[in-house]
Amino acid sequence: MAWTPDQPLVSCKDVHKSFGAVEVLKGVSLDVAQGETICIIGPSGSGKSTLLRCINALVPIDRGSITVEGQEVHDPKLDKLALRRKVGMVFQQYNLFPHKSALQNVMMAPVTVLKQDRKEVEERAYRLLKKVRLSGKEQAYPGELSGGQQQRVAIARSLAMNPDVMLFDEVTAALDPETVKEVLVTIRELAEEGMTCLLVTHEMGFAREVADQIYFTDRGVIVEQGSPKEFFANAKDPRTQEFLSQIL
Ligand code: ADP
Ligand code: MG
Repeated sequence: MAWTPDQPLVSCKDVHKSFGAVEVLKGVSLDVAQGETICIIGPSGSGKSTLLRCINALVPIDRGSITVEGQEVHDPKLDKLALRRKVGMVFQQYNLFPHKSALQNVMMAPVTVLKQDRKEVEERAYRLLKKVRLSGKEQAYPGELSGGQQQRVAIARSLAMNPDVMLFDEVTAALDPETVKEVLVTIRELAEEGMTCLLVTHEMGFAREVADQIYFTDRGVIVEQGSPKEFFANAKDPRTQEFLSQIL
């Protein structure tokens, strides 16, 4: 059955994942509609990164199902390259190529993996760097950029593949406080332009203002889900309440 945009763009159903004897995801279900911004919040070790990695097929699942645009991600016949073109991912560690300029970092995958026309890719890379507010830094090397600037290059690099959904895994967690905001502004702009975004974040202000839905995870299960308003005002689960009481 062909996927249509009124169906969830990403759909996780009863996802189970163990590493050895440790069950890290214990039946996680979560949907992301096209154009939606979803924030996942939860204590360290609760399986947030694992879930994002499963969605991107970096990690196989044991049970359940994950679809992206209706296609089963863990179908062995799935074209993983095609999936990763659709699903952009940005990590806490931006892992830019240190000996390549910002522009070259953004151009690399479309040119080498997708074999797209260099001139066209270059034009797009300039546009994307402008979008993440790095015009003028095209020729800078990662070592000449702040953490926040490097992370925005990483976001532009991911956007260069023209994804339909972006996964962000604690992308501001390693940044100096003064550069966190500029990265959040970039993500916010993307979300407002209609990019479908799934973020693991501890930035509560961002989650409150930008998220359509917030999921709270604890030890491999989703214990709470709601709009930011419901989540921050009326968290029902004691684990969520305790977490919020520590940070708010
Ligand atoms: P979070 O992102 O919420 O902090 P993770 O998904 O990174 O949580 O990790 C959840 C649990 O799974 C942790 O106990 C972690 O040690 C374990 N884990 C994650 N990846 C692996 C792996 N590749 N091999 C073994 N254990 C892992
Ligand atoms: Mg994590």
